Amino acid sequence: MTDAMHKSGAMVRKVSRMNHAMRSEASASGSLTDLPGCYVLLLHLVEAQPIQIGRLGLIEFPAGCHLYVGSAHGPGGLRGRLCHHLNPVTRPHWHVDYLRTVAPCMAVWYATGESANECAWAAALAQMPGAAIIAPRFGASDCGCAGHLLAFVQPPDASQWAVRAGIEHLRVLKVSAA
Ligand SMILES: [Zn+2]
Repeated sequence: MTDAMHKSGAMVRKVSRMNHAMRSEASASGSLTDLPGCYVLLLHLVEAQPIQIGRLGLIEFPAGCHLYVGSAHGPGGLRGRLCHHLNPVTRPHWHVDYLRTVAPCMAVWYATGESANECAWAAALAQMPGAAIIAPRFGASDCGCAGHLLAFVQPPDASQWAVRAGIEHLRVLKVSAA
């Protein structure tokens, strides 16, 4: 455990249901507010399989940890966006919705802030050992990035990545299925 992880330790809470995770986080600590910010979803895919990702097409995903970087600067801020990402997918809209139909979200890393840093966050993730881009342009339709989804066999260390990405107060939300 590093200092950064200790600082975020208070934010880590295990809950039995995803919806409850969001509610308890929001009500107990006020951390998941309407403030804007960026986030990383840690999605776990148990078995390698082809997945149709909207208009990106049919993509062969390896088993492992898939990290998706996004930003929340609209109404509802981080709380609104993360509630969407932690609830079951009804009608896929974003690329990550398609992946989430088979790869549940195990944890979220996030930080509040006005600036849209998701491209820098994705670039820093791509520099972590073992990172691979499986789906070029995933989540990056509106920017010049290679992709906002990075695949890992094992998830990278959050605090090491936070240092690389220049994030001072990274918060961690653990999600565990019932
Ligand atoms: Zn980008």
